Amino acid sequence: MIEALTFDLDDTFWDNRTVMARVEQNHYEWLDAHIGHAECFPLEEYQRRRAELARRYPLRRGDFTWIRRESLYAMLSDFGLSSESARYWTDATMEEMLRLRHEVDIHVEVPDMLTEFRQRGLKMAAITNGNADIRRLGLAEHFDLIIPAGEWLAPKPDARCFLAALAHLGIGAPRQAMHVGDSWRDDVLPAHHLGMPVAWIDVKNEGHDCPAGVYRLAHVRELPALLGWLAEHA
Ligand SMILES: [Mg+2]
Repeated sequence: MIEALTFDLDDTFWDNRTVMARVEQNHYEWLDAHIGHAECFPLEEYQRRRAELARRYPLRRGDFTWIRRESLYAMLSDFGLSSESARYWTDATMEEMLRLRHEVDIHVEVPDMLTEFRQRGLKMAAITNGNADIRRLGLAEHFDLIIPAGEWLAPKPDARCFLAALAHLGIGAPRQAMHVGDSWRDDVLPAHHLGMPVAWIDVKNEGHDCPAGVYRLAHVRELPALLGWLAEHA
């Protein structure tokens, strides 16, 4: 019997690929429009520095806000800005980045679906490696717990964020909590290995062979039907 649901966010509640493409380009252009640095430091350089920082600090590899912030600050310092000015433009650019980051189109079925789960008494947690803040998106009221796993330095597939969610929700056995997410590596495999049933939202149509307990869905809107079917058959 499923008593709780844990949810991934990006590419589960909205299509994140288009969002991130826009974020990446636009916040960098926004900064360039203000200080004209991009001729010396094109977007690729910013991306290279972020990748290098993530390699240098493996524990922080999932803390994308920190990685962006540190890379921007170092780059703006190298561009010749004073430390005060580099800090100012880093903060302003990050604010713009996070504004764009939250311009997501939540799948229309999601709010009502979460309300219904809540009414049925299901406990719910969000576990994300990304920096989308569901408080900013008006979805937080549905959740007992929000785990920004990257900022906690234990990004999925690390088992600790799943275990923390189960403990906080008071779930005694992993089989009583279903994880819902799109990533085979970061969502499906770790939750499955812990013994949680998994609803895999296969948005990229990867079509892996699902072991017992992993259910492939094409869209999160199919989740209520899956839970109904499991209640009758499992
Ligand atoms: Mg995802």
